[in-house]
Amino acid sequence: MYDVIVIGGGPSGIMAAITAAKFNNRKVLLIEKNKELGRKLLVSGGGRCNITNLKSISNFMLYVNDRFPYKTLNNFGPNEIFQYFEDLGVELKEEEDNKVFPISNQARDILNALIKDLQKFGVDVHHEEVIQVDKVKYDFHITTDKTTYNSKYVVVATGGLTYPQLGSTETGYQIAKKYNHVVTELYPNNTPLISDDEFIKNKTLQGISLKDVTIKYKTSYRGPMIFTHFGISGPTVLNISKNVYFGLKNGPVILKIDLLPDVKREELLDKIKELSSVSLALKELLPKRLVEFIVNKTNTTQNISEISKDRMNKLLEMVKNFEISINSLKGYENAIVTGGGVSLTDIDPKTMESKSVYNLYFVGEVLDLDGKTGGYNLTIALSTGYTAGYSI
Ligand SMILES: Cc1cc2nc3c(=O)[nH]c(=O)nc-3n(C[C@H](O)[C@H](O)[C@H](O)COP(=O)(O)OP(=O)(O)OC[C@H]3O[C@@H](n4cnc5c(N)ncnc54)[C@H](O)[C@@H]3O)c2cc1C
Repeated sequence: MYDVIVIGGGPSGIMAAITAAKFNNRKVLLIEKNKELGRKLLVSGGGRCNITNLKSISNFMLYVNDRFPYKTLNNFGPNEIFQYFEDLGVELKEEEDNKVFPISNQARDILNALIKDLQKFGVDVHHEEVIQVDKVKYDFHITTDKTTYNSKYVVVATGGLTYPQLGSTETGYQIAKKYNHVVTELYPNNTPLISDDEFIKNKTLQGISLKDVTIKYKTSYRGPMIFTHFGISGPTVLNISKNVYFGLKNGPVILKIDLLPDVKREELLDKIKELSSVSLALKELLPKRLVEFIVNKTNTTQNISEISKDRMNKLLEMVKNFEISINSLKGYENAIVTGGGVSLTDIDPKTMESKSVYNLYFVGEVLDLDGKTGGYNLTIALSTGYTAGYSI
């Protein structure tokens, strides 16, 4: 009989297991269906693992879908996560936009540190798949593909549905539903966007990457993006994908992209006048292939004296509001995080315990919690895991 069984050996489950053993001396079993722990952690941040983001908590909350984790972040937030890994001997660095990575650029170092801490506090780790959870009086019976375990507390840390090749299951949602928790609509989030526009289908702009654009649809995000063979991708595109997902319910979505957010229309016009050529002016600011596409589309290849005011306005509009029509999103196999999940209204944010089932906890991505790209999702996983383990 264990005190605590944690289902799912990703960052949220590992942290819940460590914390329950470390602070409360609990006998803990962590059950992970993959042969190794933290497979998603290992591919995070392109293998570099953007482990947290050092924005102040109030600023951090602007990048998360709900204010729910405010309390958990106060228990164990970005600064505590930074300190925790440094204390375990993983040196960290802060990059642009407050993103934190290991100095080694190796996600493996983060995972190894967590595994060492699991061992230090005597957490048992079994590699089995949990099939079912039953509550019988005050105890839980956890059935795996090999055996049945009993425990007093259960932490569900099964993650979301993204990257199915890394072990995603619906088990967490099934446990939640079985005990009458609401599971909100699930969808791939932070995912690339697919377009049927001619210039995408013809691969005219494929491979062009832009360091700094503003993408607008209902709200706006600024940062890098890339044109691909199927549509568009890159951090800024991933960040706007949630709005696009909901917009697509009413048909294709038109995104407007400001290709030069730091250059005002008048400034661009002055530059074109100074050089007497649209192409020459734009080539100083944008990739050549994109410039050729724009001047051909707006018919502004000639000397400036031959370009009508109308065409010039069309050109300026295309640079400041480049339109791309989005028809669909890439699915779970390409998404960074799952939108939707176990409803936050069913969970106590101070402890992560279910409001309806005593001693049952939910942490990490299985919840209806998601952040933008930049270290927010791993922070949520670690912070909610810590809070559950601590309160158990
Ligand atoms: C490609 C990619 C890159 C990312 N990069 C970043 C980044 O740099 N920074 C960031 O903040 N976030 C990043 N994320 C998101 C982040 O990795 C996740 O939000 C985070 O891993 C969620 O942690 P978790 O513990 O809740 O779930 P997971 O990490 O998904 O762990 C859940 C675990 O539960 C196990 N499991 C599931 N069902 C069962 C079952 N029935 N029995 C036993 N075990 C089970 C799974 O095998 C899995 O190991 C990235 C995601 C992806 C896909």
